Amino acid sequence: MTPIKLHNTRTRTKEEFVPIDPENVRMYVCGPTVYDRAHLGNARPVVVFDVLYRLLRHVYGADHVTYVRNFTDVDDKINATALSRQQAGAQGTLEQLVQERSDETIGWYLHDMGALGALEPNEMPRATEYIAQMVEMIEDLIAKGHAYAAEGHVLFAVDSWKNKYGALSGRSGDDMIAGARVEVAPYKKNPMDFVLWKPSTDDLPGWDSPWGRGRPGWHIECSAMSYELLGASFDIHGGGNDLMFPHHENEIAQSCCAHPEGEFARYWLHNEMLQVEGKKMSKSLGNFFTVHDLLEQGVPGEVIRFVFLQTHYRKPMDWTKSKADHAYHVLDGWHRLTVDLEPTPLSDFVPDSRIVEALSSDLNTHLALMRLAALESQSPQELLDNARWLGFLSDATKEAWKRDFLHNSSGIGVSGHPDLATLGAELDSLRTRAKITKDFSEVDQLKDKLFQAGVEVRMSKAGVELLPGPDFDPSKLENI
Ligand code: AMP
Ligand code: ZN
Repeated sequence: MTPIKLHNTRTRTKEEFVPIDPENVRMYVCGPTVYDRAHLGNARPVVVFDVLYRLLRHVYGADHVTYVRNFTDVDDKINATALSRQQAGAQGTLEQLVQERSDETIGWYLHDMGALGALEPNEMPRATEYIAQMVEMIEDLIAKGHAYAAEGHVLFAVDSWKNKYGALSGRSGDDMIAGARVEVAPYKKNPMDFVLWKPSTDDLPGWDSPWGRGRPGWHIECSAMSYELLGASFDIHGGGNDLMFPHHENEIAQSCCAHPEGEFARYWLHNEMLQVEGKKMSKSLGNFFTVHDLLEQGVPGEVIRFVFLQTHYRKPMDWTKSKADHAYHVLDGWHRLTVDLEPTPLSDFVPDSRIVEALSSDLNTHLALMRLAALESQSPQELLDNARWLGFLSDATKEAWKRDFLHNSSGIGVSGHPDLATLGAELDSLRTRAKITKDFSEVDQLKDKLFQAGVEVRMSKAGVELLPGPDFDPSKLENI
């Protein structure tokens, strides 16, 4: 078995992955704040760590991997939605409305991530279910001299752990102060000290604590939940690289100080950002669209998954229509090729060693997809089974593809002719390219061939639509 190599942010090198307990691997990934639908960027860590989870399950056994991903359901934006619903006449206490908003967002999230072929983690703790453990951890940090209470707040004292704070992100104290827009407050001993607990006003959710009614800071949530579910030392901690500082730096400080008997996480993995025109996609910048938007527009979830996996997780990436078109074509071809095949049950299936090898090399998903594509000409059955193992061509996507195929090709059937949806996407991407190159000859050629096959071509700003005309002859599509 090839060893798994992973790039560890902590050492900035690719290291062989050796679990603490050779029989049981433990992984924690920072999950979403559940105040609204996930944007496409939020889906990137989900897909990346899903691939790692699948690889680990293959190597160590499906029952020997524990994957925890939390939900942050303590948040001002959740409260704001609940409050405005209450003001608009919604029934229930504010606490109930807050919970309702989190529940609804979690439901959307699980649905959308499921559509991307992501397996659900073994544990999905909600911060609000671990408040007692957070309070206990904060008390312990105070007792050990790493935190102090002031004006209803509790702060972590970075000076109590000075030598190590900043080691993960490789920042000096001055860098951190400059980069973090550190909140200066009169009750802080050092401007870098961060909040473990803060007071809550009477009209907002809060919990009783030794420091008065209040709520936890964001960082302590992950430290407390990972300790409860995975222990003082575990193998892998993941998340986007936007979380490296301050969130992960603060998690390390809290966990290592509260549990000096452990080492917290050994391997730190960070995915790069999904970008829009060179900037991180984020809600605060307003340059985002949601996974739900794309699904609603008819982009299959597995197309999104494919586009993500074409780029290595440590490289920034853009979502572009041409990447989605390409993914659509490839997947469409795989569906055609495997439409009549029965998948091998996953329990009896051993994935192709070359695909496993690619993933074992710091999740080289691009190479894994190339090796998967190479199976097209060798064995459609192998293609189907390996694609499913990687989260593509699931039963649900197969069904959806059959429905769309029959619908879009107006009854051409699964006959091996390219269907009109695929040709429409092709024409659309040729047109996009032509607008840049100002050379429309390929667009015109394809349009001509479609006319000859009796296809009506409708082009508008919104896209391209192909409809079978009265003289439609599907056999003529074969020459295209
Ligand atoms: P948040 O709800 O903002 O805490 O984000 C949830 C997860 O999505 C974290 O792991 C973030 O690092 C990740 N994330 C947020 N924006 C992006 C992005 N544009 N590209 C990739 N990952 C992101
Ligand atoms: Zn976290």
